[in-house]
Amino acid sequence: VSEENQNVLSAYEWVTKLYHHLLRFTKDGKEGYQYFKDRGISDETIGAFQLGFAPNAKNFTSEFLEKKGFHQQVLVKSGLISLNQDNSVSDRFRGRVTIPIRNHLGKTVGFGARTITGQEPKYLNSSESELFQKGKLLYNFDLAKKHIRRQNEAVLFEGYMDVISAYQAGVKNAVATMGTSLTDFQAKLLRRYVDSVVLCYDADNAGTEATYKAALLLLRAGCIVKVANLRENTDPDSFIHEYGGEIFQEEVIRSSKTFMSFYMQYIKKDYNLRNEGDRIQYIEDVLKQLAMIDSSVEREYYMKELSNEYNISMDTLTEELNGHRRKSG
Ligand code: ATP
Ligand code: MN
Ligand code: MN
Ligand code: MN
Repeated sequence: VSEENQNVLSAYEWVTKLYHHLLRFTKDGKEGYQYFKDRGISDETIGAFQLGFAPNAKNFTSEFLEKKGFHQQVLVKSGLISLNQDNSVSDRFRGRVTIPIRNHLGKTVGFGARTITGQEPKYLNSSESELFQKGKLLYNFDLAKKHIRRQNEAVLFEGYMDVISAYQAGVKNAVATMGTSLTDFQAKLLRRYVDSVVLCYDADNAGTEATYKAALLLLRAGCIVKVANLRENTDPDSFIHEYGGEIFQEEVIRSSKTFMSFYMQYIKKDYNLRNEGDRIQYIEDVLKQLAMIDSSVEREYYMKELSNEYNISMDTLTEELNGHRRKSG
């Protein structure tokens, strides 16, 4: 790490503590503290994630850091402070609750900052830098790592608050991307620690599309992929808020479905299954995907499902499947 990046890390360490302290113990941070309380986040969790509040002032953070002896160049490079046209500076995060984003060593390298007054954007993140590359980091990986190893499984979410709520609810092997699609880099990183990944994205259209894309990357990286069983139009955090952690663990995480089962549902959108020709193509599509599965037990399981649902003999399905298996070698 260059000397300048060392200084950036040190600035983030100070500001993480500063924002956390303000949230936890001062009048200025009260609305931020109340915001997390209203979302069901405990003091213990606020501490574990060092959640904080950036006051609504133009130069609160820049003056704090200048007093600590940081040079303007470091402040700007950190992305905590922006440089204006007239060479004055202003704080990037103002009047928002702050979620420190830690690298694998547990050092803060950026913030996700959420509005508590309905402003746009909902989340403002630190800008990308050498230390903060969204495509290379997974939120909460440092805390989750030992649980991920122990369980040989990671649960992947799309939002910070999903991870925080899940962690509080006892799902400690929880990590998330930060508003961007999962990258090949992140898929391979996870694969180094686990055999299996549970995808627990929002149960809306965007989340379902993102689930499919992430699943393909994870499969290519060699992971076993499962898809959490979340109710429609909810996200993990709101589910936990509404039904509690135990039901979340039991009905959403432990009841996750296989990728194949997700796939058979997901691709139905491409076909009109009332139409005979479409129905045949749908079955062909499923068989092509099934052909890539190594386990013959799993293959037979889904073939039976097809056979029953579409009234096609197992012999015919097997013949067709074997054709695809020969082709894919
Ligand atoms: P909350 O529960 O706080 O409303 P969420 O996590 O459910 O937030 P989503 O809209 O589902 O929010 O977005 C998932 C993730 O995408 C967020 O956690 C954040 O990392 C990122 N994100 C959301 N909105 C923005 C935005 N406007 N700019 C940048 N990143 C965003
Ligand atoms: Mn979403
Ligand atoms: Mn969400
Ligand atoms: Mn949410």
